[in-house]
Amino acid sequence: MAKIEFKGIRHAYPPPPGQPLEYALKEVSQVWDDGGAYALLGPSGCGKTTLLNIISGLLTPSEGSVYFDDEDVTQKPTNERQIAQVFQFPVVYDTMTVNDNLAFPLRNRGMAETEVDERVKRIAAMLDLEESLKQRASGLTSDGKQKISLGRGLVRPDVNVIMFDEPLTVIDPHLKWLLRSKLKELHEQLGVTMIYVTHDQTEALT
Ligand code: ADP
Ligand code: MG
Repeated sequence: MAKIEFKGIRHAYPPPPGQPLEYALKEVSQVWDDGGAYALLGPSGCGKTTLLNIISGLLTPSEGSVYFDDEDVTQKPTNERQIAQVFQFPVVYDTMTVNDNLAFPLRNRGMAETEVDERVKRIAAMLDLEESLKQRASGLTSDGKQKISLGRGLVRPDVNVIMFDEPLTVIDPHLKWLLRSKLKELHEQLGVTMIYVTHDQTEALT
């Protein structure tokens, strides 16, 4: 885990020919403390996803610097940043079982199989996915698939921060409430830094 800091970050995407440069993300300087839980609230198009992509390294900002624990990582590639990012729409491996989807980021990093098993079981229990561990992901509803995406972010022990980009968009209204409370509980149990992006005021406040 890490403290994350933005110093004078701004970002402009290359404008179409003949158009003036516009900042998709206006200047922000901000510190996210280690182990904290943060919500970023803003309307569609205000630069939330741009900001998350700058933290994860998918995007290099036009101006300013990003620090993890006071180390400048602005030019560091994504794979050296240890970030878990949960996107708006579920990203799952349809042909794999739920268990293998959750185990994937751990096996990928060479974790011993007994530890993989232990961590997967723990996260599956937290997300009420235990019953479907042996099922193929393709058979799940979009709610279920998004729970796998959340789980894949939460299962890793080595992340600096978990970022959620409007993750409840595809979730049924009655489940939204449940998952919001669940995430709060997970934060308390895991103590990992969380940044949660949404345009929904209730979600941000929860
Ligand atoms: P949010 O996630 O808050 O909805 P985004 O960060 O996706 O906002 O987008 C901020 C602004 O940048 C929007 O005006 C959007 O159209 C523009 N934008 C986003 N991605 C790109 C891109 N790859 N190229 C050009 N413009 C982009
Ligand atoms: Mg967005």
